[in-house]
Amino acid sequence: MNIRRAIVGWVMVLSITLFLGFPLGSLASHRWGCWKYADYYINWYNGGTGDYYNIYNEEAKTDSNAWSPYTDIFLNPVSAAGTSDHANAYNGFYGATGWLGLAEIRGYSGCTVFNGRARLNQSYLDNGSYTRTNKKHVACQEVGHLFGLQHNRNETNTCMNDTILSAPQPNLHDQQLINSIY
Ligand SMILES: [Zn+2]
Repeated sequence: MNIRRAIVGWVMVLSITLFLGFPLGSLASHRWGCWKYADYYINWYNGGTGDYYNIYNEEAKTDSNAWSPYTDIFLNPVSAAGTSDHANAYNGFYGATGWLGLAEIRGYSGCTVFNGRARLNQSYLDNGSYTRTNKKHVACQEVGHLFGLQHNRNETNTCMNDTILSAPQPNLHDQQLINSIY
């Protein structure tokens, strides 16, 4: 899986992709640009369906090492998607896009994120090749991107490593980086 990074209009995108195309290498800070939400308190809309709802919920809120509360971020569950101070999460059959999951910064001012969106692509994830752990890894990673984290290929115990699909949780480094940002 390589890094695919694109600017599509005003949308900033990071994805976990299917095909190995880039040499492995370390990324200096594991920080995705300067993106961050205004503060640690972020409205969280889980628009997942079926088991993806559970997967997002586990990665965001309920696993012992979920982003919230494992890091200083607090995700406030809301019942509708929003654009003011929101992380919105979805799944769907998006077709042969080349990505298993995608994180997009869709609204911002300067470095401050107003509207981040995570998506999981069932066109691949439901094709029989991916375990529930794999799906959790992707969900964890896309959500983590929205908070301002880049890939981390230096460690194999974090979902921010985009060359594996077996670590469905942030690690201590992610925790420390998030806490330093927020
Ligand atoms: Zn990624």
